[in-house]
Parts: sequence; C-alpha cells; structure tokens
Amino acid sequence: MLCDKEKMTAKRHNKRKNLYFAYLTFYGLGLSLLLCGCRSPVPPQKVSAPPVARHKQIFLVIDDAGLALSETRRFLEIPVPMTIAVLPHLKDTEQVCRAIARHANKQAILHQPMEAYSHSVALGKGGIYSATPSSEVSAILGRNLASVRGAVGMNNHMGSRVTESPELMRAVLDDCRARGLFFLDSKTSYNSQVPSAARSLGMHMEQRDVFLDIQHDRDHIRKMWGQAVSKARKNGYVIVIGHAWSAETAATIRDSFQTLENQGYTFHLLSELYK
Ligand SMILES: [Zn+2]
Repeated sequence: MLCDKEKMTAKRHNKRKNLYFAYLTFYGLGLSLLLCGCRSPVPPQKVSAPPVARHKQIFLVIDDAGLALSETRRFLEIPVPMTIAVLPHLKDTEQVCRAIARHANKQAILHQPMEAYSHSVALGKGGIYSATPSSEVSAILGRNLASVRGAVGMNNHMGSRVTESPELMRAVLDDCRARGLFFLDSKTSYNSQVPSAARSLGMHMEQRDVFLDIQHDRDHIRKMWGQAVSKARKNGYVIVIGHAWSAETAATIRDSFQTLENQGYTFHLLSELYK
C-alpha cells in the first residue's frame, strides 16, 4: 500500500509523464508536417488543397465584363495575369472575349447568371433560376458558352438563391466536368452547396476569398486589397474578385502591382489552381 505522500508523488509523476507524452505527440506531429512539406491548414471552405505548395500568390478575377469593352480594357492594360469573368449575350460580350484572347496573360471564364434572393438587379439573358429544371442546365450553359468564346471555366454572377440548391449546383458542376471546365464559387451565400456538390462528384473547386469593391469608394477598395494581400501571405494564395465597372478597382491594382511584385507576391491565372 502507498502512503499519502507516495500517492501524491506517484500522481505528480504520472501527470509529468502525461505532459511529456503530450509534448512528444505535439512536436512529433509538427515535425512530420514539416518533413512532408505540407502547407498550413487550408481554410475550411476549400474542397481540396491545391497539389503544390503556394507562396504569396494572388489570383485576380474581374467579374461582370461584357457590358462595355472600355471597362475591361482598363484591366487588360495592367500587365499581370488576370481572369476575366464575362457575362453572356451582352452588347460587348463578343468583343471583350476577342480582346481577352489577344492577351497571353489573361483568360476568360463564363460569368454564369444565377438567381439571387434579391431581385433588385435583373439577371439578364442566360440565367439559371431556382425554378429551372436541372435537366435544362446543360442546354443553358451550352448557349452561354457559345456566347463567351474561349471560356476555360465559370463562376456565378449573383446566385445567392441558386447556389443554395444541391440539385442545380450538382447539375452545373456535372456539366462543367463533362466540358472540361473548372468552377469557381463566387460565394454569394454562406449556405452555398457548391462545396458539397463538388465533393459528391469528386471535383476540385475553389471559392472566392475577398470581394474588393462591394463598396465603391477607393478607401474601401484599398482596405479590402490589403486584406487580400495579407491572406495571400498567410494562406499561400488568395482568390480576389473585383468588378469590370469599377475604375477605382482598376486604379488600385494598377498602382500597387509593381510594389507587390517587388515584395515577392506573384499574380496567376485562375486555371493554375485547378491543374
Ligand atoms: Zn457578377
């Protein structure tokens, strides 16, 4: 039998032993993560980690292109890789796609209109609505892709309502897969079903991290740009969405890209994330 003093000593000893094993496990895990070259944990919304280690990479996506070529030109003139999301069937859709194709470091994706909860802005031609039968999705996307020539992927324009539909998002992603296109979730709803649809189809997908110009003034845009850059530094990469109609967004990127490149940040086409 142990006396009280011995019991106390044994207890303390066991406690120290447990702590020692906890430290061993903790540092062992950390060391093995380092040795296998794993990057820091991927933010939870990403369906799967990109296969390569990333460092200070910025993936810029410019939404809502197609209404006026002059708007898109402001971004095409900035000499860094950039992905332009073009709305189908608009006045300048065709011209915008041709202009993008002339720039080796720019790429077009279809900015697929999808119904939002708010109907304050008209969806335009080629939209997918919550009442659209999923059997019609492929035909709609086919017509829109014929309008946005050269698109290598797509993301959703608005869509807070439609991206919450598991059936519709599965139909959209299934069609993307069949056509060899990638899908970027613009993440206009916190309840987006894109991640679960992608998982069920075994597809890689990505989600937007930062919207630059929800508010249109330059101070806000600069603040969001700063947040995007800091995410790229912390997470290895960031997906940033700005809008073609925002001259302030174009100016913010144009005035800062050189400094960022000098600091080791690099700009990339979105398609690189899906390779
Ligand atoms: Zn949009």
